[in-house]
Amino acid sequence: MRTTDAFVGLACLDCGGKFDPEPTGHRCPDCEGILDPRYDLDAVELTPDVLADRHTQSMYRYEELLPFPSESAVSLGEGTTPLVECPSLADTLGVDRVLIKDEGQNPTGTFKDRGQSLAVTAAREHGADAIALNSAGNAGQAAAAYAARAGMDAHVFLPQRAGFTQKAMVEIHGGNLHVADPIDGDSEIGDAGDAYAEAMAEEDWYSTKTFVTPYRHEGKKTMALEILEELDWEPPDAVVYPTGGGVGLVGMHKAARELRELGWIDDLPPLYAAQASGCAPIVDAFEAGREVHEPVAEVNTVCNGIAIPDPGASRQILAAIRESDGGAVATDDGEILEAAIEVARTAGVEMGATCAAAASGAFELAKQGEFDDDDTVVLLNTGAGNKDAATLRSQLGDRSS
Ligand SMILES: *Cc1c(COP(=O)(O)O)cnc(C)c1O
Ligand SMILES: [Zn+2]
Repeated sequence: MRTTDAFVGLACLDCGGKFDPEPTGHRCPDCEGILDPRYDLDAVELTPDVLADRHTQSMYRYEELLPFPSESAVSLGEGTTPLVECPSLADTLGVDRVLIKDEGQNPTGTFKDRGQSLAVTAAREHGADAIALNSAGNAGQAAAAYAARAGMDAHVFLPQRAGFTQKAMVEIHGGNLHVADPIDGDSEIGDAGDAYAEAMAEEDWYSTKTFVTPYRHEGKKTMALEILEELDWEPPDAVVYPTGGGVGLVGMHKAARELRELGWIDDLPPLYAAQASGCAPIVDAFEAGREVHEPVAEVNTVCNGIAIPDPGASRQILAAIRESDGGAVATDDGEILEAAIEVARTAGVEMGATCAAAASGAFELAKQGEFDDDDTVVLLNTGAGNKDAATLRSQLGDRSS
């Protein structure tokens, strides 16, 4: 296994056990907890000055802070996405700056590419010839793309509600698409998870599922590295993130903690989880002061990417929000789709339906008086708007112009 100099191994977030990444690929061998890549930060030779002269146009720009070097990476040029200045939204929110981190500009149109790049790299380093996961849609599409790139098979388990684009692209990349049978009503992510688990009991596939592989949140960590580098290591006052399984939020928080330990930043950027009211287990737990979520019995939102009723890493998500002094906010689907339309019309940025929960959540936070007029607010546009064109357009029928 080819690893970077500072990468020292995997730590279990539950029992604290330490493991060698060579034999250990997924959950904690002792307690099944989530594994987290760890570094000897004293051994990191990267500095902001070195970065300023580096021209790598992918997330492997930060390879010293990743487990695998760029030369062994399964990469399609993911990352280094723009932070788009949106003065019209700054006016609306009554803040100094609004910046949209446009993850729609990734190879398969979402930030899932960052996680799958690193997870499929790990799969190849472990000698796997097939990967598997269940997903709401976008991670499945990304997995199929990176598996194709690495010459591996991909087995992707999706719920019926996953979008046409995601289902189609899995097959176009040569992946094996399994759409979960409905148990009662349409099938949801949990049904896809059951079908995946049943298949995994029989097969020797390498999992790239959320928080089963230690490398998805690690890949998504690079979003925070890019945001902070672009802001000259001056943390923004709020980062609003459309939260499902929380992989991106946990990853960004981890990056900020590492940068603070390296001395590149002084404070952690406040992270805000934005969810749809029809599936808001994190917001509910945050408001109730709980450390873990309670599963949502019935999902009722068109925002597929965040239709995650039972997020397995809620403890880590809630801890990240609280430690960074952020928050959590839920808005209704109608408000979310209206926010996508407002952003598309006033800023030109194409936000996905799921992603617009971040914009809508920011509008709500502004209304609640959460922001100051000199604040810089970053919204994560986790995926491209045109992947969700039909859902977004349906909202036009409900408005007068
Ligand atoms: C997966 C996804 C999310 C949620 O990501 P998590 O890291 O699971 O919270 C948000 N937006 C889009 C577009 C997604 O595909
Ligand atoms: Zn453990």
